[in-house]
Amino acid sequence: MSMTDLRLPRRVELARRPTPLQYLARASERWGRGHRLWVKRDDLTGCLLSGNKVRKLEFIAAHAIDHGYDTLITCGGLQSNHCRATAFAGAQLGLGVHLLLRGERPQQGEGNYLLDQLAGARISCYPKHQYIEQLPQLFADWQAHYQATGRKALAIPTGGSDGLGAWGYIAACEELESDLQEAGIDRAHLITASGSGGTQAGLTLGVELRGLPLTVWGVNVCDDEQYFLDKVAADAADWQARFPGLPAVHPAPRVLDGHAGAGYGVAGPEVFALIAELAALEGLLLDPVYTGKAFLGMTRELAAGRFDDCGDIIFLHTGGVFGVFPQGQGFDFGEQGQ
Ligand SMILES: *Cc1c(COP(=O)(O)O)cnc(C)c1O
Repeated sequence: MSMTDLRLPRRVELARRPTPLQYLARASERWGRGHRLWVKRDDLTGCLLSGNKVRKLEFIAAHAIDHGYDTLITCGGLQSNHCRATAFAGAQLGLGVHLLLRGERPQQGEGNYLLDQLAGARISCYPKHQYIEQLPQLFADWQAHYQATGRKALAIPTGGSDGLGAWGYIAACEELESDLQEAGIDRAHLITASGSGGTQAGLTLGVELRGLPLTVWGVNVCDDEQYFLDKVAADAADWQARFPGLPAVHPAPRVLDGHAGAGYGVAGPEVFALIAELAALEGLLLDPVYTGKAFLGMTRELAAGRFDDCGDIIFLHTGGVFGVFPQGQGFDFGEQGQ
């Protein structure tokens, strides 16, 4: 099978596609060291369905509908973008959504948690230790609960990252191919934040399948390099196992480790400072959980000469804008506000 024969599974149209590829003139000047910096605007895949998760959900939701599921169960942190996107995808498609969230139930909703509530999702909150120890059991218990009431619930893993969700960014590689042509880019490094690994897995597979002149890097925002090497390999293996007859691939994931700071959802002052600087410089807004760390990692690796073999760098903006609001206290505006 040649790569152009690759037949995508059905997807439901949820995302605004194609997203723009935008050149960042002032950021190139500021951080590029002779490189051209571009941003692939996947923060513009929608308003409430914004970000990278909707590309995965297009395939996951089609699978759910085609297999008679009426409910989606998924999981994540209290401020999970994936859970918010699933809540709104469900509301748009008339599917029930049940979110299993990590942490104590907040007194008052804010950010993505508020949006989850507005979308009418059912929300169960679990203390961190229980969530970590019992997550597979919680999924199984809730699935059994729905089955007992005559419903059918699909369990979607963290971030929608598995062999099914991988299609989202395998498909996006078709878009990237035209982006490269239109922008006149011969070769580029492509950089994404990695949280559950599915975006990086899809891109790594898609780039290999289509033979694109892109080198894909994940900047891990939690865990470490080995975790993401294993996770991308696992998602790729799941993809191969679920869809027999696919071409053989040998994904070679690349991770830029050392930029996760104190862990998931915890950003240092350097991340907030970078977000503020880029917002004012280019009118482009990043978030402290994912894209801020990834962009900072990109600038550091640039400075260290990591990308010297090639003149173009594409940063995948994976969204996350609602994550800015619950962490607004992290910004230091100094005299500016006075
Ligand atoms: C989930 C998320 C990521 C990470 O994507 P994964 O596929 O989970 O690795 C990056 N950026 C944002 C804004 C996200 O919500």
